[in-house]
Amino acid sequence: MDTIIMRGKPVADNYRELITNKINAAKANGRLVTLAVVVVGDDPASHVYKNRLVKLIQELGGEAKEVILPAETEEAEVVSIIKKMNRNRYITGILPMMPMPKHIDSDVVGTAVAANKDVDCLNYSNMGEFFTGKNPYAAATPRACMATLEHYGIELEGKYVVVIGRSNVVGKPVAMLALQKNATVTICHSKTKNLAELTRQADVIIAAVGKPCFVKPDMVKEGVVIVDVGMNSVDGKLVGDVDPAVEAKASSFTPVPGGIGVVSNMMVMDALTRHI
Ligand code: NAP
Repeated sequence: MDTIIMRGKPVADNYRELITNKINAAKANGRLVTLAVVVVGDDPASHVYKNRLVKLIQELGGEAKEVILPAETEEAEVVSIIKKMNRNRYITGILPMMPMPKHIDSDVVGTAVAANKDVDCLNYSNMGEFFTGKNPYAAATPRACMATLEHYGIELEGKYVVVIGRSNVVGKPVAMLALQKNATVTICHSKTKNLAELTRQADVIIAAVGKPCFVKPDMVKEGVVIVDVGMNSVDGKLVGDVDPAVEAKASSFTPVPGGIGVVSNMMVMDALTRHI
C-alpha cells in the first residue's frame, strides 16, 4: 500500500503568506501584532513550545512578549498579570502555557484571558461558542488536525473516527470538529474497557493520549488514517502516541516530529490575527 505521510510543513505554509500579509498590513497602519506567552515554572516542554512560538511570530513579522514567572507564583498573581495584559492595547493575543503548576487551576487562568485575545480557545465564552458551532476558532491543535486532514484530501463525512483522549484542549474539541464534519465519533479515555475493539473498527484514529507508542499495529485495521497528536519526550527524542510500526498498515499518517505540532503553532498565529 502507498502510504501518504501527512507532513505538517506544507499545511502550515498555506497559512504563512496570508498571516504575514495581515501582520504587515497592520504594521503599515502603525499597529504591531504582539503575542504574549506566559510560562509559569520551568517545565522544559512549555519552554520549548514558548521558544518555537516566539521564533514563529518573529518570522511572520510580529512581536513576542515573554512573561516568565517562577513556579511558586500564586494563581491570583497570574490572573492579575493576564488581566493587565487584557487591558494593554499593544498586546494582540495572550497564550498561557499549559499545564500550569499543580497549585494553579489552568481553567481559571485560561478563562482570565479576554475572549478577543484568546488564541487557544481557553476562555469559557469562546469554548461555549465553539461547542455550539458559532466560533470556528477551536483550540489550535484540534484545528491543526482538521487542517491537515483537509490538506491531504481526507473527507470525514460518514467515516468512523475514534479519538483517544478527552482533554478540553485536544480530545473533546477535535471530536466535536470531526462531528461537525459529519463523522461518527467515539471518544475513548483511560476508563474505556474495549479500546482496541473500537480502534480496530476506526477509519480514522486521532491519538491524543500523552503515552509514547500507545497505539500498536494490532489495534488498527488495514488502511486506517492516523493523526498522531502525541508529543512525548523519550531519551531526549520526540515520540508520538502511535507506534511507528503502525505506519505499515496505515493509508495516511502524521509523522512525529514534523506533523501536527508544526500546524498547531501556525494555528495559534491564525487565531492571533483573526481580528486584524
Ligand atoms: P491530557 O490532558 O493528559 O489527556 C490525555 C488523555 O488521554 C486523557 O483524556 C486520558 O484519559 C487519556 N488516556 C490516558 N491513558 C489512557 C489509556 N490507557 N487509554 C485510553 N486513554 C487514555 O493530554 P492532552 O493535553 O490532551 O495531550 C495529549 C497528547 O498530545 C500529549 O502527548 C501532548 O503532549 C500532546 N499535545 C500535542 C500538541 C501538538 O500541538 N501536537 C498540543 C497539545 C498536546 P482520562 O481523561 O480518563 O484521564
